[in-house]
Amino acid sequence: MTVEIKVLSSGSEGNAVWLSDGETVLLLDAGIRIQEIKEKLNFRLSEVAACLLTHGHGDHTKSADKVLRAGIDTYATEETWEGLGLDGHRKRVLKPMQEVVVGSWAVLPFPTQHIPGSVGFLLASKYGDKGIYITDSMYSRYTFEGLTFLLLETNYSRDILMENVKEGVIDRAYKSRVIKTHMGLETAKEFLRANDLSRVEQIHLVHLSVSNADPVRFKKEVQELTGIPVYVH
Ligand SMILES: [Zn+2]
Ligand SMILES: [Zn+2]
Repeated sequence: MTVEIKVLSSGSEGNAVWLSDGETVLLLDAGIRIQEIKEKLNFRLSEVAACLLTHGHGDHTKSADKVLRAGIDTYATEETWEGLGLDGHRKRVLKPMQEVVVGSWAVLPFPTQHIPGSVGFLLASKYGDKGIYITDSMYSRYTFEGLTFLLLETNYSRDILMENVKEGVIDRAYKSRVIKTHMGLETAKEFLRANDLSRVEQIHLVHLSVSNADPVRFKKEVQELTGIPVYVH
């Protein structure tokens, strides 16, 4: 059984990823309207066993309250829950570096370089697939072994960012903020070089900026670097 991944939405407009190993369905982030999530899942929201939130920003949590109220176990760190101010009997608190088991998945949340309490996920299925979800992180301080899939942020490219500053499309303060809180193509490529990719079957590039990224070029560069099928969202 190969893992099935559907990126429902990606980028600052909203992030949500549907993931299944054939037994347990996970929703990674819930940053779009609940109606949109339902429509994109052909109204099979009840099949989702758990929702995992990376951090509290609206583009990742827009529907967190609705997901909770739909009776879906929803996992986030203490800081994320505090920021959201939500409660409910399906609320689950994640501690960084403490694994939780959700059906056939073992999920390890690890800190990302974004805001206090932000995390990425290492997702290991009992059927053999193993992957990471890293978004909204300046870089990853961890490397991983035996991965079969990656969902990795490539928010911008340094040269496009610089060009946009020069052209006045974005200002310097915005540029600095982007560089300190998001992963660019160059950092993502370094990360890929540092990891064991021998088992990887699919690489998904996520959270691309509308103005500071180039989907066609990013796909080409990462595919050339890794020799692995790349999907850009
Ligand atoms: Zn985001
Ligand atoms: Zn964010």
